[in-house]
Amino acid sequence: LLGDTIGADFDRTVATHGDRLALVDRAAGRRWTYRELSDEIGRVAVGLLELGVRKGDRVGIWAPNRAEWTFVQYATAKIGAILVNINPAYRTHELTYVLNQSGVRTLVAAATFRTSDYAAMIDEARPSCPALVDVILLDSPSWTDLAGHQPDPERLAGIELSADDPINIQYTSGTTGFPKGATLSHHNILNNGYFVGEGCGYTHEDVVCIPVPFYHCFGMVMGNLACTSHGACMVIPAPGFQPADTLAAVAEERCTSLYGVPTMFIAMLADPGFDSYDLSSLRTGIMAGSPCPVEVMKQVIERMGMAEVTICYGMTETSPVSTQTTAEDSLDRRVSTVGRVHPHLEVKVVSPETGLTVPRGEPGEFCTRGYSVMLGYWEEPDKTAEAIDGARWMHTGDLAVMDDEGYLNITGRIKDMVIRGGENVYPREIEEFLYTHPDVLDAQVIGVPDERYGEELMAWVRMRDGATPLTAEALREFCAGKLAHYKIPRYVHVVAEFPMTVTGKVRKVEMRAAAREILG
Ligand code: ATP
Ligand code: MG
Repeated sequence: LLGDTIGADFDRTVATHGDRLALVDRAAGRRWTYRELSDEIGRVAVGLLELGVRKGDRVGIWAPNRAEWTFVQYATAKIGAILVNINPAYRTHELTYVLNQSGVRTLVAAATFRTSDYAAMIDEARPSCPALVDVILLDSPSWTDLAGHQPDPERLAGIELSADDPINIQYTSGTTGFPKGATLSHHNILNNGYFVGEGCGYTHEDVVCIPVPFYHCFGMVMGNLACTSHGACMVIPAPGFQPADTLAAVAEERCTSLYGVPTMFIAMLADPGFDSYDLSSLRTGIMAGSPCPVEVMKQVIERMGMAEVTICYGMTETSPVSTQTTAEDSLDRRVSTVGRVHPHLEVKVVSPETGLTVPRGEPGEFCTRGYSVMLGYWEEPDKTAEAIDGARWMHTGDLAVMDDEGYLNITGRIKDMVIRGGENVYPREIEEFLYTHPDVLDAQVIGVPDERYGEELMAWVRMRDGATPLTAEALREFCAGKLAHYKIPRYVHVVAEFPMTVTGKVRKVEMRAAAREILG
């Protein structure tokens, strides 16, 4: 384990790799070496101190991916301020909630992005946010002032920091309900980023394409911290995800690694221009965030040439990664499991009913303990106590099966498990099967209330371009003889898009509510 603060670890990379490329912001058309990046961070750090920001104060960042996000991330770490990541998709009432819940003192925000007028929403929120003192808008004089100071390493050296200090509040994706503010220390996220980088085999030669949002741990920990702790280069393809921008960034920057949630990889593989990009520089990457379908993994390896691509499993509350596949695992395990447990972590799989560890091969709740477990939910001791027990085990709410060699499979979330006629059904298994249908682009399975069986299964399906919409009869015929009868969905609902979080996760809560309407 690295024992340092994020700032100290970053400085070590600057000392070793100062002249190497550190960051590319494609939309801004700018690139920075590690030494130049260090100067930008130093300027912003002094700017924050000049505003009166002190250790432990909360600094919010509300912007899509761009270089300044990274400057603020490392500047806050250097002065010990707590960075609060704010989801760029939020609207005024969600912004107000997060600013007040975490007590943001200084907010750095984009003025606008696409159809979002952040400046106007901040004006609306401000009167009800008593803790908010300063608002700095990017691309405006307030940012130029903040970033216009001279770096002052001696002044920063005078700030006493400890690796166990809280440094970051990250709100969870809100897939299952309202987002919760996971409070994380330098030690939590620096080490997790470092081990994710180890899992991908990063060195200073790597160039990592990061289309996943920085406001989420996938971007700022598995992306930025994994890169800076290994001296690798971070590439921001565009402020928001677009398949073509991402593929172009990989081809033109000669990226060796590419990240995405499964839906992003599905979109890139289906891009009409896919074959025109030279992706031959790709070696590795990460697919994570939600179940990674075997078919999609295979295509990523074969068609994108990501021979060493890894799958990670984790959650915001655990910094985030707990398990990762590696290039040494067999192909079968690399496409069909989430790998083995990361170094220095303890895990167990327990029965949700009894709390006792279940035998290998049987599903239960995945629990983990160790350096990666968050300090707690920010100012929500009751929720923290529900998630982390007295012995510091984090109860993830995810169902997992561990095999004899320690490989894990995530079979779903406890909240998504369907009990049909007394049989436990894991939607994931059925979704995997539906992906093998040639006309199906994407499939999700939920439970809907049923008088006879308690719950019945409903498949939501996105069809490939030009394919005839699947009927319930056709779907049942496709499944007949291949899935046990109680796993065959009774209903099918064809849609253009699923309800999603900005982190690209399917919101089954919303689907269940909509299904109740559809079925009357
Ligand atoms: P909320 O907690 O607010 O409902 P969330 O759980 O989606 O939202 P995150 O912390 O972003 O918020 O996501 C973590 C969850 O994502 C995990 O608990 C797990 O359910 C799912 N997940 C992450 N990686 C994988 C993976 N490789 N395979 C399957 N599921 C995954
Ligand atoms: Mg969660």
